[in-house]
Amino acid sequence: MNKPGLQITEHAELHGLNTLAVAARARYLIELDDPSGLADLLADPRFSGLPLLTVGEGSNILFTGDFDGLVLRLNHAQIELLDEQADHALIRAEAGASWDALVTWTLQQGWSGIENLALIPGRCGAAPIQNIGAYGVELSDVLSTVEVYDRVERACRELAAADCGLGYRDSMFKRQPKRFVVLAIQLRLQRAARLRTDYAGLREELAAMQIDQPGASDVAEAVRRLRRRKLPQPDVLPNAGSFFKNPIVDADLAQSLRARYPAMPQWPTADLHCKLSAGWMIEQLGFKGRRVGDAGIAPGHALVLVNHGNASGSALLALAREVQDAVYTRFGVRVEPEPQII
Ligand SMILES: Cc1cc2nc3c(=O)[nH]c(=O)nc-3n(C[C@H](O)[C@H](O)[C@H](O)COP(=O)(O)OP(=O)(O)OC[C@H]3O[C@@H](n4cnc5c(N)ncnc54)[C@H](O)[C@@H]3O)c2cc1C
Repeated sequence: MNKPGLQITEHAELHGLNTLAVAARARYLIELDDPSGLADLLADPRFSGLPLLTVGEGSNILFTGDFDGLVLRLNHAQIELLDEQADHALIRAEAGASWDALVTWTLQQGWSGIENLALIPGRCGAAPIQNIGAYGVELSDVLSTVEVYDRVERACRELAAADCGLGYRDSMFKRQPKRFVVLAIQLRLQRAARLRTDYAGLREELAAMQIDQPGASDVAEAVRRLRRRKLPQPDVLPNAGSFFKNPIVDADLAQSLRARYPAMPQWPTADLHCKLSAGWMIEQLGFKGRRVGDAGIAPGHALVLVNHGNASGSALLALAREVQDAVYTRFGVRVEPEPQII
């Protein structure tokens, strides 16, 4: 079944393909180096009737059981400069490229705009799916185009970022997971972008590094230091980063919650809603460090679900549901999971 650049495994083990290290199998796993063969592959009668799940590093997926379908992994990973002007550049990264390698490469070339997104795990193909964001910056701030294979049109297309429905940890790709396979992304970066150092902890970290006139690489280094300190590393304690999104509620609910819980962190959004801290609410309920068998909440971070050893995906999901129900009962707010639950 295999030839150079194409590897097909039947009944493939997915344990090493998700950072929660959950045991699961796929009917087929296909690893493809050259995406020009994708349309033919998906039309192959062995695969055409099967559900499709495209994955990168599995750092935002929870498998709750075996996947009776086709898991596709695109490995083409070139990063290139498409256009360079004095003050900005257009950079293209293929789906299989590591996101953090892209951050490092752009900084080495002197381009800024994604330094705050340093060390986010995963591949470039997944970056637009939930519009990755951290430390006050989102992919949508710099995304120009997404190159996709559209399974409805059965054609490759280039979508302008404005047409991708990007929002907070959201996109139309996330809402229509079966339709698009992301082949590459194009980013518009600046020679001297305005640095975002106003996010909690970042300025303090730069001060601790004794840097008062930071460049983009300094900001990336500060973000890396913060992330290494604050988040459990998946190879040490398997996790998928923040498991819950910060809920966005209307201003009235936010106000009544503030009256009841004056210490509750709230951030007004541009459309007169309010973003609440899921982590704060979960911590108030005493979940931090909670463990049910091998499924747990990280001791240092209430938003992070962890696998202490052999937790099953369904055990992790049961714990997540318990957290959701408890938050709803106490605060009247629904916290939604961030990873894709399979
Ligand atoms: C320790 C840790 C910290 C994290 N911190 C952050 C953070 O700060 N900010 C943040 O936004 N996220 C964060 N994440 C989540 C995760 O890193 C990102 O969502 C990342 O983009 C996922 O990349 P991946 O390659 O692992 O994708 P996967 O987990 O493999 O897939 C994620 C989703 O994208 C889809 N997908 C993947 N590749 C493609 C493709 N080529 N075409 C179509 N669909 C595709 C999958 O089907 C799935 O729905 C963190 C995760 C961990 C483990």
